[in-house]
Amino acid sequence: MARTLTILGATGSIGSSALAVVDHCNRTEDCEHFEIEALTAHKDVHSLADRAIKYGAKRAVIADAALYADLKEALDGSGIEPMAGSDALEEVARIPVDRVLAAIVGIAGLKSSHAALDAGNSVALANKESMVCAGSLLKTVAAARGAAIIPTDSEHNAMFQVMERGGDVERLILTASGGPFRETPAEKLKRVTPKEACAHPNWSMGRKISVDSATLMNKALELIEASYLFDFPEDRIDVLVHPQSVIHSLVAYRDGSTLAQLGTPDMRTPIAHALSWPERRLSTDVKRLDLAEWASLTFGKVDDTRFPSIRLARHALNMGPAAPVVLNAANEVAVSAFLEGKCRFLDIRWIVEEALGLDIAQSLKTGSDLGLGDVMSLDQESRRRSDELVAAAGAQMRSEAQ
Ligand code: NDP
Repeated sequence: MARTLTILGATGSIGSSALAVVDHCNRTEDCEHFEIEALTAHKDVHSLADRAIKYGAKRAVIADAALYADLKEALDGSGIEPMAGSDALEEVARIPVDRVLAAIVGIAGLKSSHAALDAGNSVALANKESMVCAGSLLKTVAAARGAAIIPTDSEHNAMFQVMERGGDVERLILTASGGPFRETPAEKLKRVTPKEACAHPNWSMGRKISVDSATLMNKALELIEASYLFDFPEDRIDVLVHPQSVIHSLVAYRDGSTLAQLGTPDMRTPIAHALSWPERRLSTDVKRLDLAEWASLTFGKVDDTRFPSIRLARHALNMGPAAPVVLNAANEVAVSAFLEGKCRFLDIRWIVEEALGLDIAQSLKTGSDLGLGDVMSLDQESRRRSDELVAAAGAQMRSEAQ
C-alpha cells in the first residue's frame, strides 16, 4: 500500500527535494510508493499547481488567501481541491496521513506543525524555527497525541539516526560548513551583498537559510533545536567546523566512542530517512559517498569574533524559553531587511543582539510553559521592536554612504 504524505512548503528547496524522493520512489518497482494528500505554498501559485497536478495531490493550499482565484483557475479541470489561507494550512495538516513534512520557512510554519502533531500525525520536521520557538510545546503535544517528531534537518537527522541505538550520550557535536564567508576577513564582511551571502559552497537552499548559514545563525538555531529535540543542555553541545559537510554530525558516548552519520551533502537522504522512519526502506539516487574521492576531510573551530551567533544562541537558551523566540524573530526581520537592501550584513547580528537585550520577554511568564498564543504574541512584539532596530541600522547605513 502507498504511503500518504502532506508537504507543507512544497514549492521550496526542501519541498523540491522531497518531491524528488517521491518521484524516484514512485518510479522504482521495489520501493514503497507515495500518495500525496496535500501540497502547500505561500504565493507561488504556478509551481504549486504544477506540482499538485504532476504528483496527483488531492488538495493544494495557497497560504496567501488573496491568491485563491488564481489557484482555482490553475487547477481547473484537474479534480484537485484548491484551498487558501492560514486556516486551510492547519486544516490540511490535520488530515490523517502517514507523514507530514513541515518545510515552511520561519515561524510561519509553527501553527501548521503544531496542528499536524495535535491531530496525531507524525511530522518530519525540517522547519527548525518551529522547534526553536516552541520546542517544549511541540514535544508535549506530540507525546500527548502519540505522534512522532522526526528530525529532518540533516544534522539533527544524523544525530537521531545515531542515537536510535540507545546508550549514554556525553556530548552532541553539530558540524557546520562555516558558510560562504568562512575565510572572509572581518573587514570584508561589512560589504558583502545578498547574492554573495546566498552562494553557499555545499548546499542549494532557500534564501533565508542561506543567509543564516552565512552568519552562522543557522548553526545557532540548530543548537537551540538540538537542545530542545534531544533534551540536552547547551554546554553539552559543541559546534565543529567541517567545510566539506560530509559528516553530518556526531554523538560522543560515555565510553569514549564517537559515532557519526556520513553522506554526500544532499537533503534527499535525510528526507528519505524521515519519510520512511522507523524503517529505512526508501531508495534515492543521491550520489553515493566515496571517501577516497574526497581524500581529506578537515575540521576547525568557530571564530566567535567574526561569527557571534552561536554565543548568542547559548545566551538565549540560558535566558529561558522566551528568549529563543525573540532571537528568531529578530533574525527573521533582519535577514529579510538585508535581502531587501534595508540594512547591511553585519547589522543582522547587531539587531539580534540588541533585541535580546531589550525587555521584550519580561511581560511573559517564563519556565517551560509557553503556549502557542504566548509564542505568537511574543513573536509579533519582537518583530515590531526589531523593525525599529532595522530602521536605525538603515539610517546609519545611509549616513555612512553619503
Ligand atoms: P524555501 O524558502 O526554499 O521554501 C519555503 C517554503 O515555505 C515555500 O514553499 C514557501 O512558499 C513556503 N512559505 C514561505 N513563507 C510562508 C508563509 N508565510 N506561509 C506559508 N508558507 C510559506 O525554504 P527552504 O526549503 O530552504 O527551507 C524550509 C525550512 O527547512 C526552513 O525552516 C529551513 O531552515 C529548513 N531547512 C532547509 C534546508 C535546505 O537545504 N533548504 C536544510 C535543513 C533545514 P512560496 O514558494 O510560495 O514562497
